[in-house]
Amino acid sequence: MPRRLYSATPTRLTTWLDCPRRYRFTYLDRPPPVKGPPWAHNTVGAVVHNALARWWRLPVNARTVARAGALVDEYWTTEGFRDDDQAAAWRTRSREMVQRYVETLDPNDEPRGVERTVTVMHGGAALSGRIDRVDERSDELVVVDYKTGRHVLTVDDARSSLALAVYAAAAARTLRRPCRRVELHHLPSGDVVAWEHDEHALNRHLARAEDVALECSQADQAFKAGQATDAMFPPRPSSSCGWCDFRAHCAEGRGAAPSRPSWSGLATYAPNGELHPSS
Ligand code: SF4
Repeated sequence: MPRRLYSATPTRLTTWLDCPRRYRFTYLDRPPPVKGPPWAHNTVGAVVHNALARWWRLPVNARTVARAGALVDEYWTTEGFRDDDQAAAWRTRSREMVQRYVETLDPNDEPRGVERTVTVMHGGAALSGRIDRVDERSDELVVVDYKTGRHVLTVDDARSSLALAVYAAAAARTLRRPCRRVELHHLPSGDVVAWEHDEHALNRHLARAEDVALECSQADQAFKAGQATDAMFPPRPSSSCGWCDFRAHCAEGRGAAPSRPSWSGLATYAPNGELHPSS
């Protein structure tokens, strides 16, 4: 019998790689364990992504810097912030961040896709994901991924990202145009880091994704068969456990990292307004 295709997103695969127990909590246990409180940095990320997606969907003459700021206000929520003052400060900062970024864009450009879902089959895996923006430049597609986190990015982040490589292969497949370049647009710093994959590198990433998808498929089957043991879904404690939504349900994770306030993932800025280098 041919093996059934296993459908997965890169996020699902990297969750498995990061921590099989968190994978189980996230994708298999139903109802899932109750998560911790929402994170303020996720609020900022969601608002910025929503505002930029809407901005690109406006008619060209409405794609103004002022409108981009107004969209941040429209989507704003206060989830995860310490208090109203912190939320208000971040609303202003997010508005400025988006407006500064939009100033670098040409509103006459038409991306090939905004929040575009793309899929590629590789061996036994059907890999799909939603790309923030797909540009078309000189007959090639470019994957653009917006980042709003506090970590300053390096070229290595673009080069080594399984998700970005899968997106590039899937964009090429779905939109029928070559796609090798991936870019991370870090809005807090204004930096753009990019990497251009060759075919060999893309195939290597896809083969890796397929291997991980096979592991996920076997784990899912074991779970369905009632074999959800700790050996099959081991915790992988690390300093990242402080950020895990499920640490309240995981003694090993609580022992590995202290709990963090829900606003601790926000970027920190120097008094001159620049992103703090240790962020
Ligand atoms: S707290 Fe850490 S070890 Fe526990 S599930 Fe979360 S990531 Fe895994």
